[in-house]
Amino acid sequence: MSSIIQLLPDHVANQIAAGEVVQRPASVVKELLENAVDANATDIKLIIKDAGKSLVQVIDNGKGMNVTDARLCFERHATSKIRHAEDLFSLHTKGFRGEALASIAAIAHVEMKTKQDQEELGTQIVIEGSKFVSQEAAVLPKGTSFAVKNLFFNIPARRNFLKSDTVEYRHIIDEFQRVALAHPNIHFTFYHNGSEMYNLPISTLRQRVVNVFSGKTNEKLVPVQEDTEIVTVQGFVSKPEFAKKNRGEQFFFVNDRFIKSGYLHHAVMAAYDGILKDGAQPSYFLYLSVPPNSIDINIHPTKTEIKFDDESALYAILRASIKHSLGQFNVAPVLDFDRDANLDTPYHYKDLEGAMPTIQVDSTFNPFSDDKVNKHYAGSGSSGSGSSSSYRKPAATASWESLYVGLKQEPEFPTESAEISFESEEVTASLFNDEEVEHAVQNVYQIHKKYIVSPIKSGMVIVDQQRAHQRVLYEQFLANMTVHQASSQQLLFPLNLYFSSAEMELLAELKLSLINTGFVFEETNNDHVVISGIPVNVTESEVSILLEQLLSDLQQGIPENSFSQNDTIAKSMAKSLAVKTGTSLTIKEQENLVNGLFACKDPNVSPFQKPTFITMRVEDIDKKFAL
Ligand code: ADP
Ligand code: MG
Repeated sequence: MSSIIQLLPDHVANQIAAGEVVQRPASVVKELLENAVDANATDIKLIIKDAGKSLVQVIDNGKGMNVTDARLCFERHATSKIRHAEDLFSLHTKGFRGEALASIAAIAHVEMKTKQDQEELGTQIVIEGSKFVSQEAAVLPKGTSFAVKNLFFNIPARRNFLKSDTVEYRHIIDEFQRVALAHPNIHFTFYHNGSEMYNLPISTLRQRVVNVFSGKTNEKLVPVQEDTEIVTVQGFVSKPEFAKKNRGEQFFFVNDRFIKSGYLHHAVMAAYDGILKDGAQPSYFLYLSVPPNSIDINIHPTKTEIKFDDESALYAILRASIKHSLGQFNVAPVLDFDRDANLDTPYHYKDLEGAMPTIQVDSTFNPFSDDKVNKHYAGSGSSGSGSSSSYRKPAATASWESLYVGLKQEPEFPTESAEISFESEEVTASLFNDEEVEHAVQNVYQIHKKYIVSPIKSGMVIVDQQRAHQRVLYEQFLANMTVHQASSQQLLFPLNLYFSSAEMELLAELKLSLINTGFVFEETNNDHVVISGIPVNVTESEVSILLEQLLSDLQQGIPENSFSQNDTIAKSMAKSLAVKTGTSLTIKEQENLVNGLFACKDPNVSPFQKPTFITMRVEDIDKKFAL
C-alpha cells in the first residue's frame, strides 16, 4: 500500500500558521509596529486605508536590514531576536518567534523597503501570497517600510469574516494606543484614509497619556511610583471623581508590553475600595518593570496574558502603592469611610428646630414585593426609627435626608435639574382609564425626593420619579427620531466638544440619528465637533455629559440596524436627562410627570424594563390596618 502522508507545501503551511497570528487588520498593525519598536526606531508612521482592509503601512527610521536579512525575514522561524532557548528568559524585545512576517506575506500583497544606515543602497522586495515577485536595490532613506495590501486576498472566507470598517478601525486604534502608550520615547503618527488621526511627539509618559486621550485627561491623573525588589511600578491612575462607565482607559504594561490581567485589575479596584460609585471604572495607565526571568513570556503571540512568578506579592504592592497615591494627592482621605455618612448633620439642617413628629412613610415599602427586607418590616409598619436606612442597607448616600423626615424643612431651592421642563401640552391622556379618574392627577405629594404619591379612585399610586421621567423622555426621543420632526434650539455660541478618534468614528456613525433628535452639527473634525443646535429638552450644560454617556453606552458595540440604533440613543439620552432620585420637584412638575407617564404608550416600565409605579387599593390598605 502506498504511503498517504505528505508534507504540506510551505505556502499552505504558512497560510495555516497565518490564521493564528493574523486575525484581522489590527493584528498586522500590532506586528509591524512591534517590529519597528524592536528595530529601535524613534519615529514610526502608521498609515491605513479602509480600516486596514486595503492597506496597512508602517514606516520606521530604525536599524533596517541588509540584502540577505531583507529576504530571510519572510521565512518562517526567521528571527534575529533569540538564538537559544534560554534567551527566552532574558527577552527584552516584543517579537521572538519569527513568524509574523512569514504569516503576513502568506495572505497579503507585501512591499518592503529597507536600508541600513551604513549602506549606500537599500533593498526593495515585493512578495504576494508567499511568492517572491521581485527584489531590487533602491535608493532609500534609513529604516524600513512595510506596506501590506489586500489582506486575505487569497482566503475569501477570512476576508468576508471581517467586521465593518468602524469595528476593524476600533481594533486598530486599540493596538496603536497600546504601543504608543508603552513608548513615549518614540514619535508616532497615524493616518487613516489620508487624514492624520494622531500625532504624538516624543514626550514624558504623562504627556503621552494626555496626547493619546486628548482633552481633560491631565487634570484626572494622579501619579503612582513604587520601587521594590521584585517590581517597579510607575504610571497614573485617575481621581475617583473622573471614573468612567466603561473600561476603555485601563492599561497595564509589563516591561513595556501591553498585558491584560484580571488579577491585577482586581488589585487596582481594591485600592479604590469605597471611593467609587457602583460600577464606576477608574482609568489607569500602569507600567510594571520586573526582571525578565520572573515572567513567563513564552506564550501565544497574539495573547496578552502573562504569568508572573509571584503574583500575590505584585497584587499587594500594586494595591498599596495606588492607595498611597490616592491618599497622598488628597483624593481619598477627605472622606472617612469608616464613619457612617448618614450620621453627619448637613449644615442647613443643623439650626432647624425639630417639629412635632409627623407620620413617616417608608418609601421602600411595597406589600406586593417578594423582597425579603420589605417582608421583614411589613408587619412593623411605621414603627421604625424614622430612618429609612434602618429598613435597607445604606447603599445610597442620598438617604441621609431620610433622617430628617420629621423636621420642618425650609422651602426648597429649585435646583438646576429640577428645572427640566415637562412638555405639558403633550400630556392629554389621563391616568389609567376613564373609569379610574375623570381628570388627570392633581393631588400629588413627593416623598423622599424619590416617589410621587397620588390618590386615585381605587386607592393610591406611587410613582418612581426617575424611572417615570426616563420613560417619558425615552418615548419623546424615539418619536422625534422616527418621525424626523425634532425641533432644536439654536445655541448663541456653538459648542466645541473634543473626543478621541474612536469616539469620533462612533459619532460619525450616529450623526443622522442625533440630528433627528435635534442636534445640529456645524462641523465634524478629526478630534472635535462643533455643535450649534441641541434638542429642546436638553440644556447646554448637559450636552457633553449626554454625549459622553451615549458613546460609553455604545462602546460595547454599535447596534446594527437603525431602529436599534435609535432605541439605544433614546435610552441613553433618557437615562442622562431624567430627573434623578434626590431631586425635589415642584407640584406642577410632579403633576406633569405623573400625567406624562400615563400618556406614554408603555407607562408600566422604564426603558430599562423596571417598574415605574405601583398601586395600592383601598382594600389593601384596609387589610394592613386589620392586622
Ligand atoms: P520576530 O519579530 O518574532 O523576530 P518577525 O517575523 O516579526 O519575527 O520578523 C522577523 C525578523 O525581521 C525580525 O527578527 C527582525 O530581524 C526583522 N525585522 C522585521 N521588521 C523589521 C524592521 N521594521 N526593521 C528591522 N528589522 C526588522
Ligand atoms: Mg515581530
